[in-house]
Amino acid sequence: MSETPTYRNYIAGEWVAADDGRTSENHDPANGDLIGLFPRSAQADVDRAVAAAKAAYDGWRRTPAPKRGEILYRVGRLLEERKEDIARSLTREMGKVLVEARGDVQEAIDMAYYMAGEGRRLFGVIVPAELPNKAAYGMREPMGVVACVTPWNFPVAIPSWKTMAALIAGNTVVLKPATDTPLSALKYVEVFADAGIPAGVLNLVMGSGSEVGMPLVRHPDVAAISFTGSNEVGREVNVEAARNLKRVTLELGGKNAIIVMDDADLDLAVDGILWSAFGTTGQRCTACSRLIVQRGVARDLEGRLLDRIASLRLGHGLESTTDVGPLINAGQQKNVHSYMEVARQDGARILCGGEPASDGALAGGSFYKPTLLGGVTPNMRVAQEEIFGPVLSMIEVGTLDEAIAVNNGTKYGLSSSIFTRDVNAAQTAMRELATGIVYINAGTIGAEIQLPFGGTRGTGNGHREAGLGALEFFTEWKAVYVDYSGKLQRAQIDA
Ligand code: NAD
Repeated sequence: MSETPTYRNYIAGEWVAADDGRTSENHDPANGDLIGLFPRSAQADVDRAVAAAKAAYDGWRRTPAPKRGEILYRVGRLLEERKEDIARSLTREMGKVLVEARGDVQEAIDMAYYMAGEGRRLFGVIVPAELPNKAAYGMREPMGVVACVTPWNFPVAIPSWKTMAALIAGNTVVLKPATDTPLSALKYVEVFADAGIPAGVLNLVMGSGSEVGMPLVRHPDVAAISFTGSNEVGREVNVEAARNLKRVTLELGGKNAIIVMDDADLDLAVDGILWSAFGTTGQRCTACSRLIVQRGVARDLEGRLLDRIASLRLGHGLESTTDVGPLINAGQQKNVHSYMEVARQDGARILCGGEPASDGALAGGSFYKPTLLGGVTPNMRVAQEEIFGPVLSMIEVGTLDEAIAVNNGTKYGLSSSIFTRDVNAAQTAMRELATGIVYINAGTIGAEIQLPFGGTRGTGNGHREAGLGALEFFTEWKAVYVDYSGKLQRAQIDA
């Protein structure tokens, strides 16, 4: 029998065990296999990582940004070389099918090259001064040590969105990944170590939210926190950070919808719905969990969906025949299933699925049958709460206005989509859908890294990740005035 691999944190350029030596097991959600033992870190490890990041900060912020970018280019190349290996271990610990795991790593590759290029831009502004012989400009400065706290559903992509933007801007970083996906984060950080990132610039501390996440948020030497996860935890992080006036970006839940109008291309809509609702087993923050359908095509669409859902194959994400992998863990399987009783009590109908899948090879995993709920009305709990599983609620409407009102009628505002052939309807939807991301004739998922990513209302606190939005978050403006008149000139006073 081979020995269980034991992994370590990455602090100050070294791979180290948790200070008190504790470890946690990590298992494959498709079959329960033990993947390895990972540090169960605590306050002492957080202190050590933050101290390392603080010590590295001056050297890193003074490194010319194009040189910082050169390291990111190397990171991008190494990620390309290791893409298959990282994707495979990501599938093993997270469950998503291999083709999607490759996409997860590809996002990090795209982000590496994009942010590396930002090393030669990082634009500021030059504006005219109101007084003669005086120059005025604004430049971006890094903030210091930033903490990145990430979820398990995009275990490489989300750490890359946060850490690469933070690093190119000149910050140093402590990354805390989710407890369900530490190996993906470790392989990601290993790439930086091999690409020559200076010691202390990027640190990895594995462990729970309470023992590592919150101590990072509270740490006096952490200047900013970039958090992606659930609304409950995000709120707690925000409140705690506010006590010390720390900047926080929150990327939280979603209750994303696809609208299908009577004039839509239904073949295309069905493809988009299946991919958005059941891809990643419904565990994307942008996953479609509400289908808002105009009555004229409701029965036709429902029939087509039931046919296609019946053909989806559940299994291990590494098997090429698998369409839908397991949920992240048994707790999430239980949580998803609890919504079936909620749906029934509220008067919805389970049209297919509605139960865990445990036949044959699925027995050891946390699988759930792709589920379609009918007879759902906009205010039912299944139409309002994020379930984060393969559960799609179908809501029928009469008009475009009604569809838009239903779409906008939840506390979340991440992604939305409309299938229509009517250019006027599409244009109206683009203007009226109150979400941070809108798709026309495509599903709710598939954001590209060069545009700002994030949501309105309960999905976050107004910041954006990726694109230029990320650099806004990880920098502070410094306004610089250079007076070369040789005399005292008083702004607003001297004519
Ligand atoms: P979670 O909130 O349970 O955990 C997220 C991270 O926070 C983990 O690293 C966790 O260990 C840590 N954490 C937990 N408690 C903490 C605490 N008290 N203090 C500090 N850190 C703490 O979320 P999850 O279950 O890992 O992820 C699923 C959620 O993430 C869903 O709600 C999903 O919609 C959301 N999500 C949002 C986006 C987005 O960009 N909007 C992207 C992906 C996932």
